[in-house]
Amino acid sequence: MRVIDIAPAASGFALVLHGGAGGRDSELSLEEEGQYSEGLAGAYRAGHAVLAAGGSALDAVCAAVEELENCVLFNAGRGAALTAQGEAELDASVMTGDGRAGAVAVTRNAKNPVFAARKVLEETAHVLLVAPDEQLLAGWGLETVEPTYFVTESRRQQLAKVQAKELAQSRHGTVGAVAVDSQGRVAAATSTGGMVNQHEGRVGDTPVIGAGTYAHDGVVAVSCTGEGEAFIQGVVAHDVYARMNYAGASLPDAVRGTIDAELNGRGADGGLIAVGADGRVVVAYNSSAMFAAYEESGELVTLT
Ligand code: ASP
Repeated sequence: MRVIDIAPAASGFALVLHGGAGGRDSELSLEEEGQYSEGLAGAYRAGHAVLAAGGSALDAVCAAVEELENCVLFNAGRGAALTAQGEAELDASVMTGDGRAGAVAVTRNAKNPVFAARKVLEETAHVLLVAPDEQLLAGWGLETVEPTYFVTESRRQQLAKVQAKELAQSRHGTVGAVAVDSQGRVAAATSTGGMVNQHEGRVGDTPVIGAGTYAHDGVVAVSCTGEGEAFIQGVVAHDVYARMNYAGASLPDAVRGTIDAELNGRGADGGLIAVGADGRVVVAYNSSAMFAAYEESGELVTLT
């Protein structure tokens, strides 16, 4: 397990984002690593600009995730992993530290699933909507697209290789962001296409509040990536919060304890990002690689 632990910055706000965890499998060329790095840096800058202007943690995590969804390299929005039927079924969630949450699962028409999740939080009395139709999304003023918008040639090829058993089931690219703003509010957002070659209708941890995403003011915000079933069974994001809130664990100790008990204990791979209410940042994973972006001593660091 690798745990990166960054002390709170003097700015009084903090942002960290991830672009998925998975096996390295020499899947990425150096050039691709550079592109991932650029994608992460662009998304980080978008979220950071919101916080630096005094904006909310929710606006910041949505701005960062929007960029990552629009970047074809990541398994979210356009360029998402495909189901066994070759379709993109997208999941996303957002949560604010005051306890409000919104999520969508198996969405096919929202150009940016993270905004659909946010609309569930803001416009409905619900937390999770499955397969919201185009009319509902458009009625919320969201940009809608045909389902084919999300499908890229490289994802088609990846699916064919996985189905021919030439490639292990790669999970690079689910995206997420967590932030604490200058008013001390925390928020988390996560977005994914799920796992390559997944069964039609399969939903992982990403839109499940407490599993893939969790935020609680005064404590922590968490966004996860990895084998979704294990994150649901281990209620991973909430487990980090619980260790801090009820057992008084520090953020890095809570994360270590959760990964050990709930991921290692299940033989599952993955990682998470977390920001404490004090601005402390943790990136942790037990997989061989994790894509992430954060700031250390005022410098932007991208992990690929
Ligand atoms: N956690 C996601 C899911 O299971 C996949 C991932 O993070 O790569 O749907």
